[in-house]
Amino acid sequence: MRVAATVICFFFFATVQAQVENTATPVDNPVAKKYGQTITAEKLSKQLHIIAGPGMEGRETTTAGQERAAAYIVDQFAAAGLKPGANGQWQQYYPLYSDSLVNSSITVRNQTFLYGQDFLSDLRAGENQDINISQIIYADQGIVTGEYNDYHNLDVKGQVVMIREMVKRGAYRDKGNLDERIAAAKARGALAVLVISPSAGRYRSLNQQRIRMTGLYSQKDTTAHPNVYFITPTLAAAIIGIDSNDRLPEEIDKGLKIPSLIKTPVRIVFDKAATIFHPSNVLAYLEGTDKKEELVFVTAHYDHLGKQGDEIFYGADDDGSGTCAVLEIAAAFARAKQAGHGPRRSMVFMTVSGEEKGLLGSQYYTEHPIYPLQQTVTDLNIDMIGRIDPAHEKDTNYLYIIGDNKLSSALRPINERANDTYTRLKLDYKYNDPDDPEGFYYRSDHYMFARHGIPIIFYFNGTHADYHAPTDTVDKINYDLLAKRAQLVFYTAWEIANREHRLVVDRHER
Ligand SMILES: [Zn+2]
Repeated sequence: MRVAATVICFFFFATVQAQVENTATPVDNPVAKKYGQTITAEKLSKQLHIIAGPGMEGRETTTAGQERAAAYIVDQFAAAGLKPGANGQWQQYYPLYSDSLVNSSITVRNQTFLYGQDFLSDLRAGENQDINISQIIYADQGIVTGEYNDYHNLDVKGQVVMIREMVKRGAYRDKGNLDERIAAAKARGALAVLVISPSAGRYRSLNQQRIRMTGLYSQKDTTAHPNVYFITPTLAAAIIGIDSNDRLPEEIDKGLKIPSLIKTPVRIVFDKAATIFHPSNVLAYLEGTDKKEELVFVTAHYDHLGKQGDEIFYGADDDGSGTCAVLEIAAAFARAKQAGHGPRRSMVFMTVSGEEKGLLGSQYYTEHPIYPLQQTVTDLNIDMIGRIDPAHEKDTNYLYIIGDNKLSSALRPINERANDTYTRLKLDYKYNDPDDPEGFYYRSDHYMFARHGIPIIFYFNGTHADYHAPTDTVDKINYDLLAKRAQLVFYTAWEIANREHRLVVDRHER
């Protein structure tokens, strides 16, 4: 489970096929039950003590711990008799990037100003540059409207432009959007934009290590921008050549005139190094029979938060519990197939990484699918099913069900029937409410499938005091409950994989 983020909900829908749904599940299918019962608390506990043990070091995406976890999952899938699910390979590798600052400085005449002290710039968006220039062009607020233009009579092509961050009161204040003003400088061919920022003096108090490194990101921005430097008023005053201090913006507001051509030699250096990583999603495949072209996915994320210093974030519940559940569900299906009870539809058991970094592994998979998304019937995603949240401390036999009715009217009846027949958990739909402020529907990997119009269920126990803390450890897991919840996913998957009709996609709920 990832931390909350603002996500815009958008869907792509495949053609809706109207079908007569046969929702009648054979009650108490003895074959399904035989294999469902092989998913036990003991097996899950054994798996989880390894997956969420100290040897995996918190499984942070791009670390050695994540790679060790992937290798372990591969071994478990192989031992269970499954086949590699990524075009003959077990792992689908995908690129992630991180940039770190090598050096950045602004030298005015002989005085050097430093990144993180006197100015900041967007590390990810910035491009390496070393500019030696004899003048700076001051464009005041950098505003361009139909009738008003701060660039009137100014040619900034190939030049460095300096503007003010704050827009003065009165006319054109509504044109103060900084992104638009920077875009105006870009459109005129500026090499770099210096933004005089009254709050830039606070940069000194920031974590200097953190502002020299970007987080992991998945998309290289290939559009060229001028680098933007947010500079202190003191640095701006040095460029202007006046003896001022942090009051410069106010003085300009009060009428201090700055010439548009400032004849000051300035050198701007921005030098960053890009690192590329190749974490993976691990995929196991179990071929179906007469409907093998259709795929049923069962997923969980195997990555977690790694270490801070020597402290390990074990992620036993998040999402060691789901990872182990996928391993044991896969093994149960493989066992059934070996005894002649293989599923009619093919099954893909996928554990993804990059989830805690923003659903990056599942995003990559759904944008580079190994199996056609049009043939992907469902994704049953498991993220945190080993614990009890504060709301259920008295009645612990529960599970939150999220997203099950958003895209298909057929899914909830199947899941409920499986639960009524085999597991008898109290299914709690509280977080399925689209107006619930937690927005859990958008916060785990199933959402990447849902936004491609694939019906999903998200199985979840809710958050707790150990959520995203080093104390999310194996000793706090309720293994009997974990087994029962994993069995529910198994029975639901069994029905979806074996029923005559493919799940209908007939709803577009948010
Ligand atoms: Zn998480």
